[in-house]
Amino acid sequence: MMNNLKKNIEEKGIFLDSDILKVDSFLNHQIDIDLVEEMGECFYEHFKNVPITKVVTLESSGIAPAYATARRLHVPMLFIKKSEPNTMQAPLSSSVYSFTKQRSYTICMEQDYLNENDRVLFIDDFLANGEAFKGVEQLIGQSGAKIVGVGICIEKRFQKGHSYICGQGYDLLALASIDHIENKKIIWA
Ligand code: 5GP
Repeated sequence: MMNNLKKNIEEKGIFLDSDILKVDSFLNHQIDIDLVEEMGECFYEHFKNVPITKVVTLESSGIAPAYATARRLHVPMLFIKKSEPNTMQAPLSSSVYSFTKQRSYTICMEQDYLNENDRVLFIDDFLANGEAFKGVEQLIGQSGAKIVGVGICIEKRFQKGHSYICGQGYDLLALASIDHIENKKIIWA
């Protein structure tokens, strides 16, 4: 757990209805550079002994923590796109249901950037029901690469993603784990 992140969530996070935590002031819109660097350090410390060839995230909010981690591991950072640019030559794609947006969208990446020799650390800003992760898992599976770790900035344990990822046997590190919310107050796991 990262105390500084928990402190920022408690002081600056806003709980919207339907269990959505708004952290636009330091992670999802404006970015607190020092805080994100510290996240990169925490992920690096946890995963540094695992052979990793690439850090993969989903655009856009995963990019900053993924970059902060990849620069310490000295491996490329690849962000999966949430739309299919017509410049892609051999796209792999899969579908993700977003509960914050209440609709499905396509995620895609160029086939060339991952192959069966790659060992991937997946980083994302939030883990809720694990839908984004499942889409990414599907996509990475198509490339033949292997996911060897999952790093999440903020997980909400009262949703299904945590048990899905742990149930699949992945090494999951969440920097801040919210067990549940009681009268708009965070109860940490
Ligand atoms: P999941 O796919 O695990 O259900 O949700 C993960 C994705 O939905 C994250 O990549 C994030 O973009 C978004 N998300 C889920 N829960 C929250 C939340 O409480 N706050 C914010 N800002 N985004 C969330």
